[in-house]
Amino acid sequence: MYKNDRSGISEKFADELLTLNNYTILDSFAKAQSVLSRSRNAVVSLSGGSDSDIVLDIISHVDNVGEVKYFWIDTGFEYNATKEHLDCLEKKYNIKIERIRAVKSIPFCVHHYGVPFLSKYVSEQMMRLQAHNFKWEDKPLHELMQEYPRCKTSLQWWCNARYTDDKGEVKISRFSISQFKWLKEFIIANPPDFPISNKCCEYAKKKAAKGYIKENGADLDITGIRKSEGGIRSANYKSCFSHSKEKDCDTYRPIFRYNDNDKKIYEQHFDVTHSRCYTEYGMKRTGCVGCPFNPNLIDELNVIQKYEPALYNAAINIFGKSYEYSKKYREFRKKMDGRK
Ligand code: SF4
Repeated sequence: MYKNDRSGISEKFADELLTLNNYTILDSFAKAQSVLSRSRNAVVSLSGGSDSDIVLDIISHVDNVGEVKYFWIDTGFEYNATKEHLDCLEKKYNIKIERIRAVKSIPFCVHHYGVPFLSKYVSEQMMRLQAHNFKWEDKPLHELMQEYPRCKTSLQWWCNARYTDDKGEVKISRFSISQFKWLKEFIIANPPDFPISNKCCEYAKKKAAKGYIKENGADLDITGIRKSEGGIRSANYKSCFSHSKEKDCDTYRPIFRYNDNDKKIYEQHFDVTHSRCYTEYGMKRTGCVGCPFNPNLIDELNVIQKYEPALYNAAINIFGKSYEYSKKYREFRKKMDGRK
């Protein structure tokens, strides 16, 4: 057998797929088969979350000689339920999941660089502005550019800079501060007195994945990103396949087109099991424990406090400043909305 002639599904399984009457699922298998057959060395990045469980299930059906490698990044701040789940997945699929340590753990990054606040993009722009000792002033862009000449992108974000699109229409970028209601007014009234940063995403996740891909000479990185999940992560992609210059390999997202209903159909039909975060704690989705970017953070913290109390105390310790600042922002927003 040719080395990468490893992707294939049996006729019986193809018939079974047809009975689902779901084009998205059927198409995802056809694509997975085609993409995998063109790869010499594929790796799958698992998170232990529900999307990643489906990706693993698809790939395990398609990789019929078991050459695909699986890895999981230990950010240094993980649910016990996720760690247990990885052990279960190894048994269920008879695979080895390599546990990769973060280049720098989340607690380390937050302590050394600053705490994440609101979203990855907001944190990045605020971090850059803080690095230039920005005074959070409400001045026109051209004036601020003279005062702070080396942080154009962040100042454009702060000033809601306009651009002209292909049709000649003047628009405000969707990556501008106005995407968060009253945020600019809030920051001006309450300048942060602690460092804000998104560096944990870079060191605890991105760099660790990049290192693994390089060390293993992978030509294909498979992940569980879905378009319908929204946010900057999925907004970066237009389709299920692309080339990443940063990782120097192709990237493939087998469930990119799945909506929640496709997911449900898949889970039921293939009996996909999720971690206790879903089955016992009742979470709808999992990310980093207590990450301040989670729009449903308060619910998540209640769950963590109940089911993994040691992690809850650690989350308050690590992200506490951001939680307080976010709370203040929510109250400010409510007050401003009430004035109208
Ligand atoms: S998702 Fe949140 S906690 Fe996780 S690495 Fe990124 S900023 Fe840090």
